[in-house]
Amino acid sequence: GAPINAANIDALSQHFPLCMKHLHTTLRKNNHLKHFGRLQYTLFLKGIGLSLEDCLVFWRQSFKTITDDQFNKEYRYNVRHSYGDVGGDANRRGRGYAPYSCQKILTEHPPGTGEAHGCPYRHFSVDNLTSMLQATGVHDRDVLRGVKEDVEKKRYHIACNRVFEWAHKSEIKRVKDEGIWGPAELETIVHPNTYFKRSYLLKN
Ligand code: SF4
Repeated sequence: GAPINAANIDALSQHFPLCMKHLHTTLRKNNHLKHFGRLQYTLFLKGIGLSLEDCLVFWRQSFKTITDDQFNKEYRYNVRHSYGDVGGDANRRGRGYAPYSCQKILTEHPPGTGEAHGCPYRHFSVDNLTSMLQATGVHDRDVLRGVKEDVEKKRYHIACNRVFEWAHKSEIKRVKDEGIWGPAELETIVHPNTYFKRSYLLKN
């Protein structure tokens, strides 16, 4: 598959769960993301294996409307901090912060107006969620109905897993049939980075 570097994030975003797709498309649309969005997305990108250098290049190029000087003053430090390159206590030095789990994204810092972080299954209206799913190629009526029922029961990550299983159904069938993946590899996804990793492996 596409190597994990700054130039390939658009291509790699096909493997992102909806939360990260939303951050990515918002970033591309606005050439900017607010603080919690940058944090959630930076840690996810670190988790997929993007190097600090590539992550800095990615953000610098994505913020199209600001100067290098502004970028260096206002944004560079926080990206380095997330990677553990600067700041933090001795514990985090060299390692930085852990990418957020679904649990954390679902329960902490709900997004306000103009913010794109959070989980679309949890923080979007059903109509907006359905539109976003359709925009990302999920047209199957049973899947959309299932997602609606899941989110009404507040089973947000189940909705996310439902979409994953649908979007990867032929690949999942193949690795199961060939005995390459067993139940352990197909456990319910509870972390955005697991979603990515599994999709990246299955589609390559
Ligand atoms: Fe992201 Fe988890 Fe929500 Fe899926 S359930 S969209 S991986 S936060």
